[in-house]
Amino acid sequence: MNRGVVVTGGAHGIGKQICSDFISAGDLVCFIDTDETRSLDFVNQTPGLFYYNGDVADPAVLKRFVEFALDNLKRIDVLVNNACRGNKGILSGLTYEEFDHTLSIGLKAPFELSRLCKDELKKNRGRIINIASSRAFQSEPDTEAYTCAKGGIVALTHALAISLGPEVLVNCIAPGWINVTEQEEFGREDVAAIPAGKVGTPEDISKMVTFLCDQDFITGETITVDGGMNKRMIYHGDWNWYFKPD
Ligand code: NAD
Repeated sequence: MNRGVVVTGGAHGIGKQICSDFISAGDLVCFIDTDETRSLDFVNQTPGLFYYNGDVADPAVLKRFVEFALDNLKRIDVLVNNACRGNKGILSGLTYEEFDHTLSIGLKAPFELSRLCKDELKKNRGRIINIASSRAFQSEPDTEAYTCAKGGIVALTHALAISLGPEVLVNCIAPGWINVTEQEEFGREDVAAIPAGKVGTPEDISKMVTFLCDQDFITGETITVDGGMNKRMIYHGDWNWYFKPD
């Protein structure tokens, strides 16, 4: 389709699938990632794909990344804010600095990239797709930093949609459990909590990115793609669900 697409965290997992699917659609894609080995492998096998080595937590790196992307793509139509990584929480001694670092990757970088790409995206009536997590809405213990980054990106999505519309449509995807490992089979216990009956795949998320880029009447929304995991109601003793004490 000849779009210029910018992706963060494109060397592995969901981001890699997103890059591949845009390339298959005939677009040019530029991604940033800290994992140089995986990134170079990917780029060397993929015509139309450009790689910038860097950490999205550093705003100076983001500025150079966007300049590099524009040099190579000549235009920016789509920004996908995908990179993030988990961290500990309040129970295991998460420090202020560690909390802040996770926000730098998962929340401040998406804001800064949106700011840097804003004029290009407006000119091209583009799209921003943010990747959150179902953890934006529900928690396990000891997950404060990651959960807050994901809650923040959901709010950033509707704030940007109002600021940048009508030219730029901004949406977010909240994945549930997505298998980004080599593991191919999952047991009955693993999938029992997922009403769709399977662990998700990077393709499940990338298909939603494609859908959101192809439509023009959804903006500011976060769409959960978790196989229904957040919809199951659990009561001890009902429907074979039992609390197992430590
Ligand atoms: P992944 O670890 O497989 O891939 C993430 C990629 O981002 C890696 O290539 C990594 O090197 C890169 N990256 C990480 N930190 C970076 C940084 N600071 N700067 C540049 N690159 C960086 O992860 P994934 O599972 O594909 O996750 C992608 C997105 O989906 C993340 O936002 C994650 O929070 C979200 N998500 C994943 C799941 C899941 O079950 N896999 C569930 C919910 C949400």
